[in-house]
Amino acid sequence: MTVASANRVMLLGAPGAGKGTVAKGLSDRFGLTHVSTGDILRKAVAAGTELGREVQSILAAGHLVPDETMIKLLRDRVQEADCRLPDGTPCFLLDGFPRTSGQAEALLRNGLAPEVVIYLEVDDDVIVRRLCGRRTCPGCGNPHHVEFAPPAVAGVCDRCGVKLVQRPDDQEEPIRRRLAAFASQTELLVEWYGDQIERVDGSMPADVVLATVVERLSGKVGLALI
Ligand code: AMP
Repeated sequence: MTVASANRVMLLGAPGAGKGTVAKGLSDRFGLTHVSTGDILRKAVAAGTELGREVQSILAAGHLVPDETMIKLLRDRVQEADCRLPDGTPCFLLDGFPRTSGQAEALLRNGLAPEVVIYLEVDDDVIVRRLCGRRTCPGCGNPHHVEFAPPAVAGVCDRCGVKLVQRPDDQEEPIRRRLAAFASQTELLVEWYGDQIERVDGSMPADVVLATVVERLSGKVGLALI
């Protein structure tokens, strides 16, 4: 059983800052449920649901999905049992939400605001290099990178042998739009969250970034390791 004195943690950072990788490490370690709005939307697109059809072109272009849609999606997701403590307290790790002040306000209104916000800081040029080379396994989700983590056989997942794919929004144009959306609508949340922000240099190797985040969380909020 995991004991956490901070029930809600949020990862803030530009696309490609490493939020997904850190989130996976943290949820393994602290037992917090990883809620990635990008993953939820991509699954909806892949399944061809009504939501998926509505957001497909928005995602591919690298624009933000409207607040109304995102707030409903998030509220529904965190109603589920894996995002609640036995006494009903909301408890989760947010990755990719909130991305606008409207979304941050909605969290507050609904008693879902994060108690700790980890801000992964990475320069834009590093991010573009990371995103352009990113390849994912559609089978197991295992991430690879053509430059930094190339698979043993080019284009094929090391773990399950499935052909790797590139996200449609990991091309140069959408990457530029995603970075612009971050700069104009999301970065201001660093000020919004003020004292709750823990700044971490996200350009370090992934294992060092994760260890730093774990240390900050343990020191600040006393999360107990599983
Ligand atoms: P991510 O996997 O977090 O990089 O998200 C991929 C894409 O999903 C983004 O570029 C947006 O199009 C969309 N998206 C994910 N989360 C949000 C959000 N909180 N608000 C608006 N759009 C989002």
